[in-house]
Amino acid sequence: MPKTYQAIGYGRISDAGDRADEGNSVKNQRLIIEDFVKSHPDIQLVDFKIDSDYSGIIYERPAFQEMMQEIVDGNVNCVIVKDQSRFGREYIQTMQYLQKTLPSYGVRFIAINDGIDTLRDNGDADISISIKSILNDAYCRDISKKTRSALQTKRKNGEFVGACTIYGYQKDPQEKNHLVIDEFAAEIVRDIFRMKLNGLSSLKIAGELNLRGVLSPIEYKKSLGVPFPVGGYADKENAKWSATTVIRILKDETYTGVLLQGKQTTYSYKLKVLKDRPTEDWARTENAHDAIIRKQDFELVQQIMDLDARTVQGEDKVQLFSGLLICGCCGNRMTRKIVSYKGSKYHYYYCPTGKKNGCTDSKMVREQDLIDCVFQTVKAHVDSVASLDALLDNLSAERINRAMAKKCQTQMQTNDRQLRQYTSFKTGLYESFMQGVIDKDEYREMKAGYNAEVQRLEQAQALLAQEYEEIRSDKSTRFQWTEVFRQFTDMTQLDRKTVVQLIQSIRILSKTELEITFRYQAEYDKIMRLVQEQKEAV
Ligand SMILES: [Zn+2]
Repeated sequence: MPKTYQAIGYGRISDAGDRADEGNSVKNQRLIIEDFVKSHPDIQLVDFKIDSDYSGIIYERPAFQEMMQEIVDGNVNCVIVKDQSRFGREYIQTMQYLQKTLPSYGVRFIAINDGIDTLRDNGDADISISIKSILNDAYCRDISKKTRSALQTKRKNGEFVGACTIYGYQKDPQEKNHLVIDEFAAEIVRDIFRMKLNGLSSLKIAGELNLRGVLSPIEYKKSLGVPFPVGGYADKENAKWSATTVIRILKDETYTGVLLQGKQTTYSYKLKVLKDRPTEDWARTENAHDAIIRKQDFELVQQIMDLDARTVQGEDKVQLFSGLLICGCCGNRMTRKIVSYKGSKYHYYYCPTGKKNGCTDSKMVREQDLIDCVFQTVKAHVDSVASLDALLDNLSAERINRAMAKKCQTQMQTNDRQLRQYTSFKTGLYESFMQGVIDKDEYREMKAGYNAEVQRLEQAQALLAQEYEEIRSDKSTRFQWTEVFRQFTDMTQLDRKTVVQLIQSIRILSKTELEITFRYQAEYDKIMRLVQEQKEAV
């Protein structure tokens, strides 16, 4: 009987982990493939290729390339692997090969342990390959402790020097030293600037991001398996968003398209803190890459954050902020007082609680500084609501609901995927322990880590489910609150009426940072994110 399929077997071992795992040894991969061919009379194994010490992410593997050449030359028309992760672990590239390249050469693909056979499965194969690829991808994205230490070793050898990119960008695959936008992270950056312009404090922004289950920049980089700086904060397990991280993003001019080089003199992985060079020493290149944040928005954010640099101006005003100012340290209402200095009188707000009664970090804030900052923020917010209002006219409530529901679902799916991933890691962990790959302490520690992740994700899921329900049980009165803001579109100065109607509270967090909670803040935040997306989609 003539053999219809001339097959090539392909095997891959990546690292110590694979070597320790008897099931993935070269011998074993080969045995499984030979066994399979024996029971399939229509297949003849004509060649066997093996890549040693290559990870599942890269396709620059010599044996893999030789195999592709065999396919292109028409010598083989079937590829057999033990399981699909041997072929590739990275989702997009794997899909590219399995769904486009191989079919275009009429090549039959068999992943024995995954039960994939493109000849037998026909259309259905697409789905099972997709699912498997996503899981493999997820595996890659999880950098377990062991892999992480392997990465660090490599980096100490200098392989990845200078490879860390700023959150929101990635390295251009076509051109070294050029940045291209990473759409997912860029959207988070836009959200951060938006929230800041809306008067949220960096702390609150960080809290909001954590609540939404968004990975912090460092965790995001780890999850993608791309290089990330180590040392200090970066080495913390499951680093969450913090006010510091948010502030760093808000202050980074790179997002406006400017390339700043030489920001840090030393890039030693041993140093906990990188030494910052003075700003004037940085090399600036305008429009070096696509901007994520408009220049004017960036400038406005700097002004908001830079309350301290304001000059004294004008006459004293009425008590604009009475009852609205809250001490960021103890939560008490702040009191106004007059300070005379060199013949002039200035108005300040301070916290009356005092150290004895538990306010350890009270801040004195000049009233004029507050007025300037609050006015800017209120005006930006009112403008924003007005433009949002105009946009809402063009968008049907249904469409908005659909988009909101979809966003909610997408995040839920992502979380769900992570949940399944961690659950499967927990299962694999015990096996690794039994096989002696990890010791008891590592087992305990990693298990606790996975449990914590599972718990965090479950909480996020519950919140999202609630939000999803709210969207589904839609009330058409949702946008009526925008009326309140619309009446202030032409305001030229801050008065008591404006303040009271629009602002719920102002917390003084530091001399340079305050947190304004607008009325209808939650409604606004939700709609704003959505409208922005719609606008960008058009
Ligand atoms: Zn206080």
